[in-house]
Amino acid sequence: ARKFFVGGNFKMNGTIQSIKDIVKNLNDAQLDPNVEVVIAPPALYLLLVREHLREGIEVAAQNVFDKPNGAFTGEISVSQLKDSNITWTILGHSERRTILGESDEVVASKTKFASEGGIGVIWCCGESLEERESGKTVSVIEKQLAAVSAQIKDWKNIVIAYEPIWAIGTGKVATAQQAQEVHEAIRKWLKANVSDEVAEQTRILYGGSVNGKNCKDLAKEKDIDGFLVGGASLKPEFVEIINSKQ
Ligand code: 13P
Repeated sequence: ARKFFVGGNFKMNGTIQSIKDIVKNLNDAQLDPNVEVVIAPPALYLLLVREHLREGIEVAAQNVFDKPNGAFTGEISVSQLKDSNITWTILGHSERRTILGESDEVVASKTKFASEGGIGVIWCCGESLEERESGKTVSVIEKQLAAVSAQIKDWKNIVIAYEPIWAIGTGKVATAQQAQEVHEAIRKWLKANVSDEVAEQTRILYGGSVNGKNCKDLAKEKDIDGFLVGGASLKPEFVEIINSKQ
């Protein structure tokens, strides 16, 4: 069985104080021991979070570069994350794809570098509203999957996050059925193009306006193996989302 996985993506939010408060809330909470929890604060606060957060909850970067070390101003390397006990990174978030211009190929290269370097990757994909309305959802995601799959041999360090762009930060969550349909299509794609084993074992998370109220219905779907949570990961209700799997 796939272990339920809940990630918190803080994006470019928080202060030393507010992030310490979030960490304290998680440290004090009763969390379902069958759930893998990973939080991704802004890079500046990674070490602070790792220092204060209890063991058993992992910390993720929101991005990482695809070169070992060197003259790459503003970037952070996989080895620096590992040196700091940061064991995961998010890659290919739609905000980095659309606002920072990361192509499918750049995201794939970073995913290869990070996963082969021994850290976990929360690899994000998803369609825009226009793409959904013109019936292109599955083909867009298959194209994103093909780009990453061309570079990845071993999927064991990879978790997929399906985040429809129209649902991110909008309050318009995908229905459980809409999300399940895409998750099932992703799993089918993995089965046809990678292997039965990778299709069976890879966690597929849903992200986009997940909150303490809508998480339980989504968590019931057979191909939804967890969540990647933005706004609500900054709030106490993040605990309800972690504990949403019945
Ligand atoms: P929201 O939960 O704020 O919609 O953000 C989702 C997201 O982008 C997580 O990576």
